[in-house]
Amino acid sequence: MVIVMKQDQGEKTEALKNRAEKIGLQVIVTYGAGQNILALVGDTRKVELSYFEGEPGVEKVYRIQEPYKLASRYANRVDTIIEIEGRKIGGHNFTIIAGPCSVETEAQIIETAIKVKAYGADFLRGGAFKPRTSPYSFQGLGLEGLKFLRKAKEETGLPIVTELMDPHDIDDVYKYADIIQIGARNMQNFSLLREVGRCDRPILLKRGMSSTIQEFLMSAEYIMSEGNERVILCERGIRTFETHMRNTLDLNVVTAIREMSHLPILIDPSHATGKVAMVDPASRAAAAIGAHGLIIEVHNNPKEALCDGPQSLYPEEFKQLNNTVRKIHSLVQKEAAC
Ligand code: PEP
Ligand code: MN
Repeated sequence: MVIVMKQDQGEKTEALKNRAEKIGLQVIVTYGAGQNILALVGDTRKVELSYFEGEPGVEKVYRIQEPYKLASRYANRVDTIIEIEGRKIGGHNFTIIAGPCSVETEAQIIETAIKVKAYGADFLRGGAFKPRTSPYSFQGLGLEGLKFLRKAKEETGLPIVTELMDPHDIDDVYKYADIIQIGARNMQNFSLLREVGRCDRPILLKRGMSSTIQEFLMSAEYIMSEGNERVILCERGIRTFETHMRNTLDLNVVTAIREMSHLPILIDPSHATGKVAMVDPASRAAAAIGAHGLIIEVHNNPKEALCDGPQSLYPEEFKQLNNTVRKIHSLVQKEAAC
């Protein structure tokens, strides 16, 4: 259930919140420009709309039909903007996260970080805990990798995006990450989702490789229902009959998510294609269709990468991509403003 308040009636919000909490509902308030929205969560089936309609300051009360509530566009008509160390994700901003698939050595992550920073990245990515298909493949450096990421941040000022796979590692990852990534394989690991929902770091939630858009939003809802509303969605390609690419990039997700939800949606063109030659065109398409940004694999020496070398750009390739994609984004913004 959602309560939309009248313009400039914000001071009545607290009374409504108390009224809802009195009957056992959880209330999440979005403070909009002059107009507040209250999302009521819990068993609202027996609550009549009239319980809130007619209360001072209320413009409209309605039920959200979708199974996701907090993630729903109805819960928040304005786009959610997530601010991390002065960088904004969502709304009209275009955010680029770049870095290697995995942290391999201190020198590798620092060298890559310095370059992606110089070439326009807003955040540094790098996995310390890696979800590998084979147990014999490089699994990541774990805590040591997190410490190298910290050094790269100290060197460049770039905030860190890194994956959490196991709830046991949450304290370490929380300490070193500015955004905690939940990978595609864990999109429906509900206990992990609840765990990160209880922490106060923004979460980058990647779409499961066989997940529907509704399932994707339900996973965001798991995180948000625990109190952490700072969720960033990421499309990274899905499994289809096509084998030419590593995955099939489902760009329509951007349009769908922007309609269905207020959360930011990024594109990962690296895992979506698996091929360096396809990363730049897919990134341009992502900016043109209205994505809020990209997460891209860049390695100082892709040929020697321990993980995902064939889809990792050289820093100089990233430089080119960054320039083009930002131009496309500003053109799209200008057109939209006309
Ligand atoms: C990654 O970002 O390194 C990764 C493993 O991605 P995904 O979970 O989308 O496969
Ligand atoms: Mn990877």
